[in-house]
Amino acid sequence: MSKEIKTTKKEIKLVEDFDLIFDFYKLVSRQGPGSIEITKRALDFIPGTSVNSKIADIGCGTGGQTITLAKNTLGHITAIDLSEKFIEILDKNVKQAGFEDRFTTLAGSMENLPFSDNELDLIWAEGSIYHLGFERGLREWRQYIREEGYIAVSEVSWITKERPLEIDEFWEQNYNGIDTIPNKIAVMQEAGYIPVSHFVLPVNCWLENFYDLVEAAVDPFLEEQNDSEEAKQFIDSQLTEINLYKKYKDYYSYVFYIGQKI
Ligand code: SAM
Repeated sequence: MSKEIKTTKKEIKLVEDFDLIFDFYKLVSRQGPGSIEITKRALDFIPGTSVNSKIADIGCGTGGQTITLAKNTLGHITAIDLSEKFIEILDKNVKQAGFEDRFTTLAGSMENLPFSDNELDLIWAEGSIYHLGFERGLREWRQYIREEGYIAVSEVSWITKERPLEIDEFWEQNYNGIDTIPNKIAVMQEAGYIPVSHFVLPVNCWLENFYDLVEAAVDPFLEEQNDSEEAKQFIDSQLTEINLYKKYKDYYSYVFYIGQKI
């Protein structure tokens, strides 16, 4: 979800152009890799919720995971995303699924969450904590989770110890918070959680469930944007990201990390 600008011959840097990102990704049913099965698998590590549970879905997007979360938990869900456009679509999805009475949806920032200390039983963040940074998000959000409550986040991670220079440089330039799984787990522990479990998202979460949908949205988006240069550059950046994933998928993936507050 980033826009590419070329700064030097070798350096490819992604900058965030939120308007373009929101206009493109509102055409896609999820805004990051994942699947219903994967959301349910992560939930399996978290003991049962009750009607009194309070859950936050942070960086929810249009709700790629939100309805699955609602179907497999009890209690109230507050779903937050920076994009009003995404929240409008989420509202429709929540209504269509008949879950309005269990939801508060908010357009707002994960940097300024509307919760009290120890209020939440569970924080959920699929593919979004990187906007704050993994460590900062885990540390800052911890205050909102009750003692022994849970956090479940997915975060792009190296799945091997070493990797080719091209992909290393790409991620170094674009999200230098990427790290190996053991290092991510250590960060979670240092931030005040028991690392309960983690697992790597399979390839179908990236390709069939995400990048195929992204590719299908390219033509409608370019038409909507009257083939503007900015839109074309943005699409080029998305396709570069997809091609790099296809080339280097053995070296990185999203990883779900589930932690319990201590
Ligand atoms: N969880 C969704 C999914 O997996 O389909 C969306 C993941 S998408 C990669 C990251 C989401 O974080 C986007 O919907 C984006 O609008 C949202 N986001 C970015 N910065 C944010 C911020 N500061 N506060 C709240 N949401 C933010």
